[in-house]
Amino acid sequence: MFNSLSDRLQDTFGRLRGKGRLTEDDINVAMREIRMALLEADVNYRVVKGFVARCKEKCLTSEVMDSLTPAQNVVKIVLDELTVLLGSTDSKLTLAQNRTPNVIMLVGLQGSGKTTAAAKLAYLLKGQGHSPLLAACDTHRPAAADQLATLGGEIGVSVYRGDGVDAVAVASEAVREAVDHLNDLVIVDTAGRLQIDEEMMNEAVAIKRAVRPDQILMVLDAMGGQDIVNVVSEFATRVDFDGVIMSKLDGDARGGGALSVREVTGKPIKFVSMGEKPDSLEVFHPDRMAKRILG
Ligand code: GDP
Repeated sequence: MFNSLSDRLQDTFGRLRGKGRLTEDDINVAMREIRMALLEADVNYRVVKGFVARCKEKCLTSEVMDSLTPAQNVVKIVLDELTVLLGSTDSKLTLAQNRTPNVIMLVGLQGSGKTTAAAKLAYLLKGQGHSPLLAACDTHRPAAADQLATLGGEIGVSVYRGDGVDAVAVASEAVREAVDHLNDLVIVDTAGRLQIDEEMMNEAVAIKRAVRPDQILMVLDAMGGQDIVNVVSEFATRVDFDGVIMSKLDGDARGGGALSVREVTGKPIKFVSMGEKPDSLEVFHPDRMAKRILG
């Protein structure tokens, strides 16, 4: 992931390092290259514009610390801005202390990785001492409940399927089931479509009303590129959500979605998924990701 973006940025910084003192022209050229690299990585245009303007302003006005060369100063400024763009600090999963079970609801388009993310999250939280129950509320994709049941079996987490027809009822019953079986968490998988669709949104809103989730997480495919921004904005307006699980970051995602989502929606990335296995979900660290991108 981010390979092409990383290569491009490293080329730019390499050219700056070869120069010693930096003129305003040198900074302008570097900023133009960074702008092109970000646009080619499919970062949202408005995000790129703001980002490059902030970097440029700082490069032209900041004092270079004694311990840094002018080129290192530019790298530090870009690294700091990239960290801010990715969300500055880790955004933890917020669970209510005084409510059992807590409910986490996952939303997103079909194929985004929602069902596998539900299982991965269950696995991660089980490892932290929780006792999750998975609720199979994607009643539109026939194989989804079977897929969740298989994944639940692999990780030793129960899956509630109900009648497999009425998603809102399945969600509500799953919460009651969790109370009966002393599960402290219910993770609700919901239906997605290939495109935003009225019925899907209405159903997500109805599930939200019925089970009042403590956290709603939107699962986003990192390969999605520019259109991620539209999808996310639509979900933010209609269902609203607390944070993002960015999936498929192990692929050759160019990175545009991951770099755009925070600024476009104000919603933090909370987890990233780096593979298909149950243990491939990680808490997202903006600073580590920014360092990884800059190489
Ligand atoms: P859903 O329709 O949103 O529930 O999507 P699924 O959970 O069924 O995932 C769609 C496909 O993406 C499946 O083949 C998953 O194994 C795959 N997938 C999900 N997350 C990841 C990931 O982080 N990395 C990779 N490489 N594949 C993933």
